[in-house]
Amino acid sequence: MTPPRKRLTKKQRALEILARLKQMYPDAVCSLDYETPVQLLVATILSAQCTDERVNKVTPELFRRFPDAAALANADLEDIIERVRSTGFYRNKAKNIQGACRLIMTEFGGQVPQTMEELLKLPGVARKTANVVLAHAFGINAGVTVDTHVKRLTHRLGLTQEEDPVKIERDLMKLLPQPDWENWSIRLIYHGRAVCNARRPLCDRCLFTDLCPSVDRSLLPVVSTSLPIASAMTLEDNFRVSETLSLPPK
Ligand code: SF4
Repeated sequence: MTPPRKRLTKKQRALEILARLKQMYPDAVCSLDYETPVQLLVATILSAQCTDERVNKVTPELFRRFPDAAALANADLEDIIERVRSTGFYRNKAKNIQGACRLIMTEFGGQVPQTMEELLKLPGVARKTANVVLAHAFGINAGVTVDTHVKRLTHRLGLTQEEDPVKIERDLMKLLPQPDWENWSIRLIYHGRAVCNARRPLCDRCLFTDLCPSVDRSLLPVVSTSLPIASAMTLEDNFRVSETLSLPPK
């Protein structure tokens, strides 16, 4: 007889998902290329509504010409615009990059500030960008980065009902340990690209079939109607699948 499945709380599910994400994507890192906090800030501003792959094609030349906040603050705006054109919304992004760098020079001694409150004063910087910069440039977990992948997966996994990224972030901060706030986002982004993509989630390759209220059961192998979903694909199977998946760019 099949033992009854233990009903997990939302927090327990979140922690179980986090543990599995760590095993599936042990080496997940920020996929933007940068060498300094200023460069990470600029790359993150450029990544809005754009793929990291595209940003990484644009930034080497941009950073060769304008390597730091002082150079970007004093640049000819049209020069920046031309170099970031292919990332979309290029005029606004260029203005924000220059505005942020000017404020960094005048208010913060040429250094990217290291608090959420100060970062939010920079043009073009909302919580998502600030979280990325604080976590990856300074190792500070001030919040949970909520991008389009994190929003979609957090919804599908039933961890929030909210639509507003700030409220989604607040929900996730209650569910996850602070040291894992940023690595949760990075790993969930990997999973969103590789398995739970926007148009066609590959539930038959997913590690979370037993934890996800959105699982498409029609995609799962039929093993026995008397078995719980978790048995349709073992964790070992899932790890094997994840190891063989190539991670496409955002
Ligand atoms: S079970 Fe399906 S919907 Fe749920 S996280 Fe996995 S791929 Fe996405």
